[in-house]
Amino acid sequence: MTDTFAPPKTLTAPKVGIVSLGCPKALVDSERILTQLRSEGYEISGSYDNADVVLVNTCGFLDSARTESLDAIGEAIKENGKVIVTGCLGKDAELIRQTHPQVLAVTGPQQYEQVVNAVHEVVPPRHDPYVDLVPPQGLRLTPRHYAYLKISEGCNNRCTFCIIPSLRGDLVSRPANRVLMEAESLVKAGVKELLVISQDTSAYGVDVKYAESQYKGRAVKARFLDLARELGQLGAWVRMHYVYPYPHVDEVIPLMAEGAILPYLDIPFQHAAPGVLKAMKRPGNQIKVLERIRSWRAICPDLTLRSTFIVGFPGETEADFQYLLDWLTEAQIDRLGCFKYEPVKGATANDLPGAVPEEVKQERWERLMAHQQAISAARLQAKVGRTIEVIVDEVDEEGAVARSKGDAPEIDGNVYLNGDTALKPGDIVSAKVVHADEYDMWAERV
Ligand code: SF4
Repeated sequence: MTDTFAPPKTLTAPKVGIVSLGCPKALVDSERILTQLRSEGYEISGSYDNADVVLVNTCGFLDSARTESLDAIGEAIKENGKVIVTGCLGKDAELIRQTHPQVLAVTGPQQYEQVVNAVHEVVPPRHDPYVDLVPPQGLRLTPRHYAYLKISEGCNNRCTFCIIPSLRGDLVSRPANRVLMEAESLVKAGVKELLVISQDTSAYGVDVKYAESQYKGRAVKARFLDLARELGQLGAWVRMHYVYPYPHVDEVIPLMAEGAILPYLDIPFQHAAPGVLKAMKRPGNQIKVLERIRSWRAICPDLTLRSTFIVGFPGETEADFQYLLDWLTEAQIDRLGCFKYEPVKGATANDLPGAVPEEVKQERWERLMAHQQAISAARLQAKVGRTIEVIVDEVDEEGAVARSKGDAPEIDGNVYLNGDTALKPGDIVSAKVVHADEYDMWAERV
């Protein structure tokens, strides 16, 4: 069917569709690519039909993510036909081309220039000074009031279940002034919450020996504590993700206690049993970690700890698993994600003896989730009656959906303000908690 009302093709801006899969870090990559394309006059299309080309930003972390990525590429080819692939799975160009020979170009993670060049080849940019304007904060795929701030790429660790270092290479930190300037422009553009991400946030700056750079006429070190302190002065909520319990992490807890950054630490512990941690090549003596968690909470009683764990890692015994449950009882982790071990293609853990049968993985996963639900429910119940600050994410005719300082978007719980329809996304208000379950809270504005 021809749309007789559409302007001639040559006068319209070329349109790019995007399918963004994977983790928040991949989302930041998508946002950067779109910002560049938008600045060149491309429009972003919300549907396959309208797009002149579709970008699929893939994830290659787990086998399930690889399958999802390949399926998404297939769908984009079926629906549109002109497809460029980028992201982590782009490292495996051969697999992509074998599965989907129609793909026009394949680029890897962070190859922003190559992706943009590939788009130019398929549909050249059309210069238009009125269309080319891009807001200074760039284009974000996340809602306007929060934004992810990527501080480094890659990782120096070699956890045996993970292929990220082979996909993304060793740690490369962004200069502190670049990170701060980006954060500042996001806040100026209305962002109320900055989510600091990287593969290993607490290792920030190790690769550049904590090099100083000039920001607002002073030297700022590329160091976790210095960056946290500077970000804390921008007037937005600052939330730290993917932090490892290195000793210097203790230094940021007072910043949380004084309210400069959010009292929230996302630390992917992955396990607690010493034997499993050793096989995973994870640093850390979990007994010392328990002591440190206690001392963090003594300094900052409102600290929310979020973590992820893997059950069914090769060699994990019932005793190891029980150790983990007991450790969780002690650690009182507030928010928890749990994965059943998946043998990711290329991960060294696949060669370890003692594969755990699928039904045992499932059974441990269920036990861990039930164990954690009881911990989480009790911890949230303790907040009933307290007045807390919340940030609003959505408002509809039934009320507002918000989050507390202890809830990261998309992964943690919500705070429901039933009937409160006068708020708007990004508002930060005080509310009294009136009810809680295992994951969410209900509150009334005060
Ligand atoms: S810290 Fe471990 S799990 Fe995280 S990216 Fe680095 S190697 Fe992978």
